[in-house]
Amino acid sequence: MSSSLSSSAPPGAPWQPLKDHGSGYLSVYLNEPLARWPIREVTRPSDNKSDPNIETGTYGLFSTCEPSMRRIIVSTGAATIVFMTSRPGAGRLVAGYYHVGWFAEGSRGQEKGDFALAADRLKFIDPVPPSEFAEGVSEVMQVPFRTQKPIGAAIVDSIMATFDAVPDRTSDYLAELQRIEQFSKSRSGYAYPSWGREQGFTWSDAGDYLRQPGDPVDAPNSSPTGEWRCSECDHVISNRALLKRCPVCGKLATLRPEGA
Ligand SMILES: [Zn+2]
Repeated sequence: MSSSLSSSAPPGAPWQPLKDHGSGYLSVYLNEPLARWPIREVTRPSDNKSDPNIETGTYGLFSTCEPSMRRIIVSTGAATIVFMTSRPGAGRLVAGYYHVGWFAEGSRGQEKGDFALAADRLKFIDPVPPSEFAEGVSEVMQVPFRTQKPIGAAIVDSIMATFDAVPDRTSDYLAELQRIEQFSKSRSGYAYPSWGREQGFTWSDAGDYLRQPGDPVDAPNSSPTGEWRCSECDHVISNRALLKRCPVCGKLATLRPEGA
């Protein structure tokens, strides 16, 4: 049984349906060290993480993470993303999956491979070591890879069978996300201080992050200094990864690497 996304009825335009061709990806995200459940690293200093954004069932909508994986998912119909994360003392564990049902052009433009993905099904579980998956699957999971690895349809089917057999803990992950966001806000005034963002993410924010006609698309997505200047308000901000919105003025796609 997988979670249906109550807060996200199938998105309308500009979202388009993704045809599932059976294959998928293993995708690694950074674990939140303060959390009881292995949620993404919300409190990562100068690099607060927004993906996987399980509260909206999206990936790459709010962040600039893994553009090549997102582009290939859209071009090949590799619709299943199996998420892994590392917990202290436990190594990499399998935490959840998305079945991607829709995609839309992100704010950096499809020329940059920037597609936002939205799940029509997802499920997060008590994290499982790769060794507990079926023969042939556990080996694939344990071959060293950095952040992403394509997997074939037979591997996807076997992993889904394992997911089907265990309880759904998505609501525990969601509650933990809220708890950590609240903790961060009580400390800094912001749920996501490096984003200048007071609250968490909801579907009502989604439209703000999709590409608008006339948006610039040519910004590099790395800054050697970790600093970015906003072409709109001229503030210089610090964040390891490119942010889609300026944390000061809130404009989309205005940040450029500073002082290379
Ligand atoms: Zn600005």
